[in-house]
Amino acid sequence: MDSIPFVDLKIQYQQLKHKIDAAIGRVLDRAQFIVGPEVERFEKRFANFCQTKYAVGVSSGTAALHLSLLALDIGSGDEVITVPNSFFATTEAILLVGARPVFVDVDPETQLIDILKIESAITKRTRAILPVHLFGQMADMKRLVKVAKKHQLAVIEDACQAHGASLGGRPAGSWGDIAAFSFYPSKNLDALGDAGAVVTNRRELAERVRLLRDHGSPEKYLHNLVGHTLRINELNAAVLNVKIDHLSSRNKKRRTHADLYNELLSDLPLTLPPRLDSGRSIFHLYVIRTKNRDSLARFLAKEGIATGIHYPIPIHLQKAVAHLGYRTGDFPVAENLAKEVLSLPMYPELEPKQVEKVAECVSRFFATAKGGSVKQ
Ligand SMILES: *Cc1c(COP(=O)(O)O)cnc(C)c1O
Repeated sequence: MDSIPFVDLKIQYQQLKHKIDAAIGRVLDRAQFIVGPEVERFEKRFANFCQTKYAVGVSSGTAALHLSLLALDIGSGDEVITVPNSFFATTEAILLVGARPVFVDVDPETQLIDILKIESAITKRTRAILPVHLFGQMADMKRLVKVAKKHQLAVIEDACQAHGASLGGRPAGSWGDIAAFSFYPSKNLDALGDAGAVVTNRRELAERVRLLRDHGSPEKYLHNLVGHTLRINELNAAVLNVKIDHLSSRNKKRRTHADLYNELLSDLPLTLPPRLDSGRSIFHLYVIRTKNRDSLARFLAKEGIATGIHYPIPIHLQKAVAHLGYRTGDFPVAENLAKEVLSLPMYPELEPKQVEKVAECVSRFFATAKGGSVKQ
Protein backbone atom coordinates (compact mmCIF):
# COMPACT_ATOMS: atom_id res chain seq x y z
CA MET A 1 0.00 0.00 0.00
CA ASP A 2 1.14 3.55 -0.66
CA SER A 3 2.32 5.73 2.15
CA ILE A 4 -0.33 7.35 4.33
CA PRO A 5 -0.12 11.12 4.80
CA PHE A 6 -1.11 12.89 8.00
CA VAL A 7 -3.76 14.91 6.14
CA ASP A 8 -4.66 14.99 2.46
CA LEU A 9 -6.29 18.19 1.24
CA LYS A 10 -6.25 17.19 -2.42
CA ILE A 11 -8.98 14.55 -2.22
CA GLN A 12 -11.54 16.98 -0.79
CA TYR A 13 -10.79 19.44 -3.60
CA GLN A 14 -11.15 16.74 -6.24
CA GLN A 15 -14.52 15.75 -4.77
CA LEU A 16 -15.84 19.33 -4.58
CA LYS A 17 -13.87 20.80 -7.51
CA HIS A 18 -16.95 21.54 -9.53
CA LYS A 19 -18.64 23.60 -6.83
CA ILE A 20 -15.47 25.25 -5.52
CA ASP A 21 -14.32 26.34 -8.98
CA ALA A 22 -17.79 27.73 -9.74
CA ALA A 23 -17.85 29.64 -6.41
CA ILE A 24 -14.43 31.14 -7.11
CA GLY A 25 -15.54 32.02 -10.64
CA ARG A 26 -18.57 33.88 -9.28
CA VAL A 27 -16.37 36.01 -7.03
CA LEU A 28 -13.98 36.77 -9.88
CA ASP A 29 -16.89 37.77 -12.13
CA ARG A 30 -18.33 40.06 -9.45
CA ALA A 31 -14.85 41.47 -8.77
CA GLN A 32 -15.83 42.31 -5.22
CA PHE A 33 -13.06 40.88 -3.06
CA ILE A 34 -13.32 42.28 0.45
CA VAL A 35 -16.52 41.96 2.49
CA GLY A 36 -19.49 41.30 0.18
CA PRO A 37 -22.41 38.91 -0.39
CA GLU A 38 -20.39 35.71 0.17
CA VAL A 39 -19.13 36.93 3.55
CA GLU A 40 -22.62 37.98 4.63
CA ARG A 41 -24.05 34.62 3.58
CA PHE A 42 -21.30 32.66 5.28
CA GLU A 43 -21.65 34.61 8.52
CA LYS A 44 -25.37 33.81 8.70
CA ARG A 45 -24.78 30.14 7.97
CA PHE A 46 -21.88 29.76 10.38
CA ALA A 47 -23.82 31.46 13.21
CA ASN A 48 -26.64 29.06 12.48
CA PHE A 49 -24.25 26.09 12.55
CA CYS A 50 -22.91 27.19 15.97
CA GLN A 51 -26.41 28.04 17.26
CA THR A 52 -25.30 31.59 18.06
CA LYS A 53 -26.93 34.85 17.08
CA TYR A 54 -23.88 36.35 15.39
CA ALA A 55 -20.80 35.31 13.46
CA VAL A 56 -18.18 37.71 12.15
CA GLY A 57 -15.68 36.49 9.55
CA VAL A 58 -12.07 37.46 10.22
CA SER A 59 -8.65 36.78 8.73
CA SER A 60 -7.54 33.84 10.94
CA GLY A 61 -8.20 31.96 14.16
CA THR A 62 -5.51 34.03 15.83
CA ALA A 63 -7.27 37.22 14.70
CA ALA A 64 -10.54 35.77 16.05
CA LEU A 65 -8.97 35.25 19.49
CA HIS A 66 -7.25 38.64 19.40
CA LEU A 67 -10.44 40.49 18.39
CA SER A 68 -12.51 38.58 21.00
CA LEU A 69 -10.19 39.81 23.75
CA LEU A 70 -10.22 43.36 22.35
CA ALA A 71 -14.03 43.32 22.10
CA LEU A 72 -14.19 42.42 25.80
CA ASP A 73 -11.83 45.33 26.48
CA ILE A 74 -9.19 43.05 28.00
CA GLY A 75 -5.70 44.54 27.98
CA SER A 76 -2.80 45.78 30.03
CA GLY A 77 -3.01 44.86 33.73
CA ASP A 78 -5.58 42.12 33.12
CA GLU A 79 -5.08 38.39 33.55
CA VAL A 80 -6.63 35.63 31.45
CA ILE A 81 -6.69 32.02 32.63
CA THR A 82 -5.82 29.45 29.97
CA VAL A 83 -4.00 26.14 29.41
CA PRO A 84 -0.38 25.38 28.52
CA ASN A 85 -1.25 22.55 26.07
CA SER A 86 -2.57 24.24 22.97
CA PHE A 87 -1.31 25.78 19.79
CA PHE A 88 0.74 28.86 20.70
CA ALA A 89 -1.86 31.28 19.25
CA THR A 90 -4.14 30.88 22.29
CA THR A 91 -1.54 32.45 24.57
CA GLU A 92 -0.20 34.72 21.86
CA ALA A 93 -3.57 36.48 21.52
CA ILE A 94 -3.60 37.22 25.27
CA LEU A 95 -0.09 38.68 25.02
CA LEU A 96 -1.00 40.67 21.90
CA VAL A 97 -3.61 42.68 23.83
CA GLY A 98 -1.09 43.33 26.61
CA ALA A 99 -2.74 41.04 29.16
CA ARG A 100 -1.05 38.29 31.15
CA PRO A 101 -1.76 34.62 30.46
CA VAL A 102 -2.15 32.64 33.69
CA PHE A 103 -1.89 28.91 33.06
CA VAL A 104 -3.68 26.14 34.87
CA ASP A 105 -2.83 22.51 34.29
CA VAL A 106 -5.11 20.12 32.40
CA ASP A 107 -6.97 17.04 33.53
CA PRO A 108 -4.75 13.99 32.90
CA GLU A 109 -7.62 12.02 31.37
CA THR A 110 -9.36 14.56 29.16
CA GLN A 111 -6.25 16.68 28.46
CA LEU A 112 -8.61 19.67 28.77
CA ILE A 113 -8.64 22.49 31.33
CA ASP A 114 -8.86 21.12 34.89
CA ILE A 115 -11.92 22.93 36.25
CA LEU A 116 -10.86 22.25 39.86
CA LYS A 117 -7.64 24.20 39.33
CA ILE A 118 -9.29 27.36 38.00
CA GLU A 119 -10.40 28.99 41.24
CA SER A 120 -6.96 29.00 42.84
CA ALA A 121 -5.61 30.85 39.78
CA ILE A 122 -8.16 33.67 40.04
CA THR A 123 -6.85 37.01 41.35
CA LYS A 124 -8.40 40.48 41.44
CA ARG A 125 -6.85 41.10 38.01
CA THR A 126 -8.49 38.09 36.36
CA ARG A 127 -10.93 39.10 33.63
CA ALA A 128 -11.59 35.96 31.63
CA ILE A 129 -11.19 32.21 31.27
CA LEU A 130 -10.04 30.97 27.85
CA PRO A 131 -10.54 27.19 27.57
CA VAL A 132 -9.39 25.28 24.48
CA HIS A 133 -11.57 22.56 22.95
CA LEU A 134 -8.46 20.60 22.05
CA PHE A 135 -8.41 17.97 19.28
CA GLY A 136 -12.17 18.50 18.72
CA GLN A 137 -13.26 17.58 22.24
CA MET A 138 -15.06 20.19 24.31
CA ALA A 139 -13.89 21.32 27.73
CA ASP A 140 -16.36 20.81 30.59
CA MET A 141 -18.24 24.02 29.85
CA LYS A 142 -21.10 23.36 32.27
CA ARG A 143 -18.79 23.52 35.26
CA LEU A 144 -16.49 26.13 33.73
CA VAL A 145 -19.32 28.60 33.05
CA LYS A 146 -20.47 28.18 36.66
CA VAL A 147 -17.03 29.11 38.00
CA ALA A 148 -16.90 32.08 35.61
CA LYS A 149 -20.36 33.33 36.67
CA LYS A 150 -19.49 33.01 40.35
CA HIS A 151 -16.41 35.23 39.87
CA GLN A 152 -17.94 37.48 37.18
CA LEU A 153 -15.41 36.49 34.54
CA ALA A 154 -15.89 36.44 30.79
CA VAL A 155 -15.54 33.13 28.93
CA ILE A 156 -13.77 33.02 25.57
CA GLU A 157 -13.84 29.63 23.84
CA ASP A 158 -10.89 28.66 21.68
CA ALA A 159 -12.97 26.53 19.30
CA CYS A 160 -10.34 26.56 16.53
CA GLN A 161 -10.32 22.73 16.55
CA ALA A 162 -13.98 22.20 17.39
CA HIS A 163 -16.35 23.12 14.49
CA GLY A 164 -19.42 21.03 15.31
CA ALA A 165 -18.22 19.52 18.59
CA SER A 166 -20.92 19.57 21.25
CA LEU A 167 -21.65 18.97 24.89
CA GLY A 168 -25.09 17.75 25.91
CA GLY A 169 -26.21 18.62 22.38
CA ARG A 170 -25.06 22.23 22.61
CA PRO A 171 -22.32 23.19 20.13
CA ALA A 172 -18.86 24.61 20.72
CA GLY A 173 -18.91 28.38 20.47
CA SER A 174 -22.36 28.77 22.02
CA TRP A 175 -21.33 28.36 25.67
CA GLY A 176 -19.13 31.35 26.40
CA ASP A 177 -19.47 35.09 25.91
CA ILE A 178 -17.58 34.80 22.65
CA ALA A 179 -15.68 32.14 20.70
CA ALA A 180 -12.93 31.91 18.10
CA PHE A 181 -12.80 29.54 15.11
CA SER A 182 -10.02 28.96 12.59
CA PHE A 183 -10.45 27.87 8.98
CA TYR A 184 -6.75 27.16 8.49
CA PRO A 185 -6.40 24.53 5.72
CA SER A 186 -5.99 21.52 8.05
CA LYS A 187 -8.96 22.39 10.30
CA ASN A 188 -12.31 20.56 10.10
CA LEU A 189 -13.73 23.49 8.12
CA ASP A 190 -10.96 24.80 5.89
CA ALA A 191 -10.42 27.80 3.66
CA LEU A 192 -7.92 28.31 0.83
CA GLY A 193 -5.52 29.99 3.20
CA ASP A 194 -5.91 31.81 6.48
CA ALA A 195 -9.42 32.66 7.65
CA GLY A 196 -11.43 32.52 10.86
CA ALA A 197 -14.61 33.63 12.61
CA VAL A 198 -15.83 35.01 15.90
CA VAL A 199 -19.24 33.86 17.16
CA THR A 200 -21.28 35.29 20.02
CA ASN A 201 -24.81 35.80 21.30
CA ARG A 202 -23.95 39.29 22.53
CA ARG A 203 -24.79 41.95 19.97
CA GLU A 204 -22.42 44.59 21.36
CA LEU A 205 -19.48 42.17 21.12
CA ALA A 206 -20.34 41.19 17.53
CA GLU A 207 -20.56 44.86 16.60
CA ARG A 208 -17.21 45.65 18.19
CA VAL A 209 -15.49 42.77 16.39
CA ARG A 210 -17.09 43.92 13.13
CA LEU A 211 -15.63 47.41 13.65
CA LEU A 212 -12.24 46.26 14.92
CA ARG A 213 -11.64 43.89 11.97
CA ASP A 214 -12.01 46.85 9.62
CA HIS A 215 -10.22 49.95 10.93
CA GLY A 216 -12.94 50.68 13.48
CA SER A 217 -15.00 51.86 10.56
CA PRO A 218 -18.83 51.66 10.47
CA GLU A 219 -18.84 53.35 7.07
CA LYS A 220 -16.29 54.60 4.61
CA TYR A 221 -13.83 57.15 6.07
CA LEU A 222 -15.54 57.19 9.44
CA HIS A 223 -13.38 55.68 12.22
CA ASN A 224 -14.89 55.15 15.65
CA LEU A 225 -12.18 52.86 17.02
CA VAL A 226 -8.57 52.04 16.27
CA GLY A 227 -8.89 48.66 14.60
CA HIS A 228 -6.92 46.72 12.05
CA THR A 229 -7.19 44.95 8.68
CA LEU A 230 -8.36 41.55 9.92
CA ARG A 231 -11.31 40.81 7.63
CA ILE A 232 -12.20 37.55 5.94
CA ASN A 233 -12.34 37.92 2.14
CA GLU A 234 -14.96 37.02 -0.47
CA LEU A 235 -12.93 34.22 -2.08
CA ASN A 236 -12.53 32.37 1.18
CA ALA A 237 -16.13 33.00 2.21
CA ALA A 238 -17.32 31.63 -1.17
CA VAL A 239 -15.27 28.45 -0.68
CA LEU A 240 -16.47 28.13 2.92
CA ASN A 241 -20.07 28.47 1.68
CA VAL A 242 -19.47 25.33 -0.39
CA LYS A 243 -17.61 23.40 2.30
CA ILE A 244 -19.97 24.17 5.20
CA ASP A 245 -22.59 21.98 3.47
CA HIS A 246 -20.22 19.03 3.91
CA LEU A 247 -18.94 19.81 7.42
CA SER A 248 -21.31 17.58 9.39
CA SER A 249 -20.93 14.58 7.09
CA ARG A 250 -17.15 14.99 7.04
CA ASN A 251 -17.08 15.24 10.86
CA LYS A 252 -19.07 12.02 10.96
CA LYS A 253 -16.47 10.30 8.78
CA ARG A 254 -13.77 11.36 11.23
CA ARG A 255 -15.80 9.81 14.06
CA THR A 256 -16.15 6.58 12.09
CA HIS A 257 -12.37 6.45 11.59
CA ALA A 258 -11.87 7.15 15.31
CA ASP A 259 -14.24 4.28 16.20
CA LEU A 260 -12.26 1.94 13.98
CA TYR A 261 -8.94 3.09 15.47
CA ASN A 262 -10.41 2.63 18.98
CA GLU A 263 -11.55 -0.88 18.17
CA LEU A 264 -8.29 -1.98 16.52
CA LEU A 265 -5.98 -0.40 19.13
CA SER A 266 -7.98 -1.27 22.24
CA ASP A 267 -5.81 -4.18 23.44
CA LEU A 268 -2.47 -2.43 23.08
CA PRO A 269 -0.45 -0.89 25.92
CA LEU A 270 -1.29 2.69 24.98
CA THR A 271 -3.85 5.30 26.02
CA LEU A 272 -6.66 5.98 23.57
CA PRO A 273 -8.37 9.40 23.21
CA PRO A 274 -10.83 10.11 26.05
CA ARG A 275 -14.48 9.23 25.52
CA LEU A 276 -16.76 11.67 27.29
CA ASP A 277 -20.33 10.49 27.80
CA SER A 278 -22.11 13.78 27.22
CA GLY A 279 -19.65 15.17 24.67
CA ARG A 280 -19.37 14.62 20.95
CA SER A 281 -15.83 14.98 19.62
CA ILE A 282 -15.26 15.90 16.01
CA PHE A 283 -11.77 14.36 16.05
CA HIS A 284 -9.85 17.23 14.58
CA LEU A 285 -6.96 15.00 15.64
CA TYR A 286 -6.78 11.39 16.77
CA VAL A 287 -4.21 11.42 19.55
CA ILE A 288 -2.87 8.38 21.38
CA ARG A 289 -0.45 8.33 24.29
CA THR A 290 2.54 6.08 24.95
CA LYS A 291 5.84 6.36 26.78
CA ASN A 292 7.42 4.95 23.59
CA ARG A 293 6.12 7.85 21.50
CA ASP A 294 9.36 8.73 19.71
CA SER A 295 10.30 5.17 18.76
CA LEU A 296 6.71 4.46 17.64
CA ALA A 297 6.75 7.58 15.45
CA ARG A 298 10.06 6.47 13.88
CA PHE A 299 8.72 2.96 13.34
CA LEU A 300 5.59 4.31 11.61
CA ALA A 301 7.66 6.71 9.48
CA LYS A 302 9.66 3.73 8.17
CA GLU A 303 6.36 2.10 7.21
CA GLY A 304 5.39 5.24 5.28
CA ILE A 305 2.89 6.49 7.88
CA ALA A 306 3.05 10.18 8.79
CA THR A 307 2.29 11.25 12.37
CA GLY A 308 2.27 14.52 14.29
CA ILE A 309 2.93 15.76 17.82
CA HIS A 310 0.41 18.21 19.28
CA TYR A 311 2.29 19.73 20.97
CA PRO A 312 5.94 18.90 21.65
CA ILE A 313 6.71 21.91 23.90
CA PRO A 314 4.13 23.16 26.43
CA ILE A 315 3.46 26.87 25.98
CA HIS A 316 4.75 27.91 29.42
CA LEU A 317 8.20 26.59 28.43
CA GLN A 318 8.40 28.46 25.11
CA LYS A 319 11.11 31.10 24.74
CA ALA A 320 8.56 33.76 23.77
CA VAL A 321 6.97 33.63 27.23
CA ALA A 322 10.18 33.29 29.29
CA HIS A 323 9.41 36.72 30.82
CA LEU A 324 6.35 35.22 32.56
CA GLY A 325 8.72 33.25 34.78
CA TYR A 326 7.22 29.77 34.46
CA ARG A 327 9.52 26.75 34.94
CA THR A 328 9.69 23.05 34.17
CA GLY A 329 7.59 21.24 36.77
CA ASP A 330 4.94 23.97 37.03
CA PHE A 331 2.36 21.98 35.02
CA PRO A 332 3.33 18.31 35.24
CA VAL A 333 0.28 16.95 33.42
CA ALA A 334 0.82 19.15 30.36
CA GLU A 335 4.56 18.50 30.45
CA ASN A 336 4.00 14.76 30.54
CA LEU A 337 1.51 14.92 27.67
CA ALA A 338 4.07 16.76 25.55
CA LYS A 339 6.35 13.71 25.91
CA GLU A 340 3.69 11.06 25.26
CA VAL A 341 1.16 12.29 22.69
CA LEU A 342 1.19 11.06 19.11
CA SER A 343 -1.36 12.08 16.47
CA LEU A 344 -2.20 9.38 13.91
CA PRO A 345 -3.41 10.16 10.36
CA MET A 346 -6.93 11.65 10.55
CA TYR A 347 -8.97 13.26 7.81
CA PRO A 348 -12.45 12.47 6.46
CA GLU A 349 -11.22 11.02 3.16
CA LEU A 350 -9.09 8.31 4.83
CA GLU A 351 -10.04 4.82 3.65
CA PRO A 352 -10.89 2.18 6.28
CA LYS A 353 -8.07 0.06 4.88
CA GLN A 354 -5.65 2.90 5.59
CA VAL A 355 -6.87 3.08 9.20
CA GLU A 356 -6.39 -0.71 9.37
CA LYS A 357 -2.86 -0.44 8.00
CA VAL A 358 -1.96 2.23 10.59
CA ALA A 359 -3.44 0.13 13.40
CA GLU A 360 -1.67 -2.99 12.12
CA CYS A 361 1.69 -1.18 12.14
CA VAL A 362 1.09 0.19 15.65
CA SER A 363 0.23 -3.35 16.82
CA ARG A 364 3.36 -4.74 15.15
CA PHE A 365 5.48 -2.11 16.92
CA PHE A 366 4.21 -3.22 20.31
CA ALA A 367 4.52 -6.90 19.41
CA THR A 368 8.17 -6.54 18.41
CA ALA A 369 8.79 -4.24 21.35
CA LYS A 370 7.30 -6.83 23.73
CA GLY A 371 4.51 -4.74 25.10
CA GLY A 372 6.35 -1.47 25.03
CA SER A 373 9.67 -2.24 26.69
CA VAL A 374 11.53 -1.24 23.54
CA LYS A 375 14.82 0.66 23.88
CA GLN A 376 14.27 4.35 23.17
C1 LIG B 1 -5.29 26.68 14.61
C2 LIG B 1 -5.45 27.14 15.98
C3 LIG B 1 -5.39 28.49 16.34
C4 LIG B 1 -5.01 29.58 15.37
O1 LIG B 1 -5.71 29.59 14.19
P1 LIG B 1 -5.04 30.25 12.88
O2 LIG B 1 -6.18 30.30 11.92
O3 LIG B 1 -3.94 29.36 12.45
O4 LIG B 1 -4.56 31.61 13.25
C5 LIG B 1 -5.64 28.84 17.65
N1 LIG B 1 -5.91 27.92 18.58
C6 LIG B 1 -5.94 26.60 18.30
C7 LIG B 1 -6.26 25.62 19.38
C8 LIG B 1 -5.70 26.17 17.00
O5 LIG B 1 -5.71 24.86 16.72
